[in-house]
Amino acid sequence: MKKEREEDFEANLTGEGPQGDDAKPRWFKRIRKGILTSTADKKETPEGLWNKCPECNYICTTTELAENLYVCPKCNHHHRIGSADYYDFLFDNNEYIELFDQIKSKDALGFTDLKPYQKRLDEIHAKTDLKDSMRVATGKVDGEGFVIACMDFEFIGGSLGSVMGEKFSRAVDYCIEHKLPYLVISKSGGARMMESAFSLMQLAKTSGKLSQLSDAGLPYISLLTDPTFGGISASFGMLGDLNIAEPGALIGFAGPRVIKETIKRDLPEGFQRSEFLLEHGFLDFIVERKQLKQKLAQLAMHFRK
Ligand SMILES: [Zn+2]
Repeated sequence: MKKEREEDFEANLTGEGPQGDDAKPRWFKRIRKGILTSTADKKETPEGLWNKCPECNYICTTTELAENLYVCPKCNHHHRIGSADYYDFLFDNNEYIELFDQIKSKDALGFTDLKPYQKRLDEIHAKTDLKDSMRVATGKVDGEGFVIACMDFEFIGGSLGSVMGEKFSRAVDYCIEHKLPYLVISKSGGARMMESAFSLMQLAKTSGKLSQLSDAGLPYISLLTDPTFGGISASFGMLGDLNIAEPGALIGFAGPRVIKETIKRDLPEGFQRSEFLLEHGFLDFIVERKQLKQKLAQLAMHFRK
């Protein structure tokens, strides 16, 4: 009896089954078989409601993930987040003052790749609130005063252009003036090719500026997050009094694929991940996002003594 009912159920679902007078009354009848909605008419699930971990495929709501500081509750994968999220959880009571936020990028060279640079900038300005790939803010972190410069990967891959260089430098001046430690959170693909040589000059500018901070006896902490590449790791990214990183972050100069094709050899497992860099002496330590705030405050205290 049970078997028969199961069969009925199946037949109902597929729209098949006994026809004519023999047919039992059904609660559901499919008139046409298969899924007929054309792709164009499909309704998308609203974006940002659910989040799937790229490492372990664990699915949770974005709210749950945000409460966990965008760290996967199952496998501890640190999701990429922007400056707003970092400022949110680092600064006490989410209170901070944003500095130098009126500096904007300009297309000085009339550069065109797939589209003109100026058009690219206009599009991002229309889409986001970001003015450039780095924001600078000051406030208290667990009671300790800090200046935190943080990159936004969303803005042309967090690339280093004249604006980032200028903001970086002014942030150093601000630190010296107010005797504050400097934290830079890096997340970038490297130099901004649309600014060509102007972009490369920022490597020297920012590195030079850091020696002024050092002369003033103030600490510079470089936090490398996933991913940090090219001009950033070739300049201020690796110049910290402390170079620290988030777990599992990809950090390097050239990407693994380029290196593999150049040296024609397989790369070791975990190559360019923070854990690999720590083992080879490039990092001082790895810090979990949840411990970051507390750790920063501790460091600020130690450096002051
Ligand atoms: Zn996960």
